[in-house]
Amino acid sequence: MNEPAEHVNMASINDNYLKLTAGYLFPEISRRVKAFTAAQPEANLIRLGIGDVTEPLPQACIEAMTQAVSEMGVRETFRGYMDDSQGYDWLREKIAENDFRARGCDVSADEIFVSDGSKSDTANVLDILATGENRIAVTDPVYPVYVDTNVMAGNTGDADESGKYAGVTYLPVTAENDFTPALPSDPVDVIYLCSPNNPTGAALSREKLAKWVDYAREHRSLILFDAAYEAFITDASIPHSIYEIDGARDVAIEFRSFSKNAGFTGTRCAYTVIPRSLAGTAADGTEQPLHPLWARRHNTKFNGVSYIIQRGAEAAYSSDGQQQVRELVGFYLENARLLREGLQQIGIDVYGGVNAPYIWLKTPGGLSSWDFFDRLLEAGRLVGTPGSGFGAAGEGYFRLSAFNSRKNVEQAVERFQRVAG
Ligand SMILES: *Cc1c(COP(=O)(O)O)cnc(C)c1O
Repeated sequence: MNEPAEHVNMASINDNYLKLTAGYLFPEISRRVKAFTAAQPEANLIRLGIGDVTEPLPQACIEAMTQAVSEMGVRETFRGYMDDSQGYDWLREKIAENDFRARGCDVSADEIFVSDGSKSDTANVLDILATGENRIAVTDPVYPVYVDTNVMAGNTGDADESGKYAGVTYLPVTAENDFTPALPSDPVDVIYLCSPNNPTGAALSREKLAKWVDYAREHRSLILFDAAYEAFITDASIPHSIYEIDGARDVAIEFRSFSKNAGFTGTRCAYTVIPRSLAGTAADGTEQPLHPLWARRHNTKFNGVSYIIQRGAEAAYSSDGQQQVRELVGFYLENARLLREGLQQIGIDVYGGVNAPYIWLKTPGGLSSWDFFDRLLEAGRLVGTPGSGFGAAGEGYFRLSAFNSRKNVEQAVERFQRVAG
């Protein structure tokens, strides 16, 4: 037997990665599902745990990308590197016009940075912020990326048994506070907000979002606003962008993605807005605008999104494209309605699913999130996501996704009514 080498390599690693609690949630789900299907290979499982879209791309996007592929095959229309990795002007102009100016938001094309995803953008934004200096606030439950990337960057201490990291401010969101995080009692410098929310499906009202913008202005904090599910908003009073709130341009970065509206989860395109008026504080105490820092980061570490994909994203704003996106979103929202109403009929407390593709339910009979998971799996052959996997305050809750075929959703509702009714 070989002796283990004492030092294979002298390169020191980023020890912060060792603090990460083993990505517990999804591996544990697949472990339990595997064990169950090994014992019952005939079981016809329905998975309502997925955070991924199921329906094909809008036809308008397909046509635009097909056309773009042809252009790449001709010398005269071939494209190589972009002059500026921020994104083609024609796409950024369409974004500024349709997603912002049409809603009365003052956002210009040069404040938009096109990227390969909001997951990477919400992670990479830490590049332009100081390490270990900022007090970070997240909601509990939360999209795990916000927390894990702060751990990797060295902005936290170790995790405790409940999975909470030292040095992070957790703002619980439960039925008791209407899934609205309370303003922190101790000041924070960076706040992650996701509305409409993954996992709770709740959306922040104009009034509640305005409270956060006021808080950030008063405490000179930065809001990182993730609006990946903006297209699912059905309630006309809910803001689609944080820039609909007065004063937000001085305190907020907004993340948007084509993943959930146009089904680009496998195609990859998103964008981030950094207003020119947004600033932070340098170590010498001077105020420094964030836009040039992000532009520098983007151009140094990224060579832009493929021409073909940017043409596909642009097509989502054509009149056909918009119609097709509305149909896609409407399809998932109808799934959400069927799930929500099917569960309400059997007396389960259900939240979300109106302005978001997620249903967040209170487990019946006071079951723990994992006990409910096991019961659904064994008795209903249904797979969902235990709320406690998104944070300690998610204990006793459970997430169902509306990203599925209609047939699966209808069958799932029947099975639910059989086992949980
Ligand atoms: C799906 C999702 C995104 C989108 O991420 P992409 O990298 O653009 O696919 C962003 N934020 C949340 C909370 C999400 O659930």
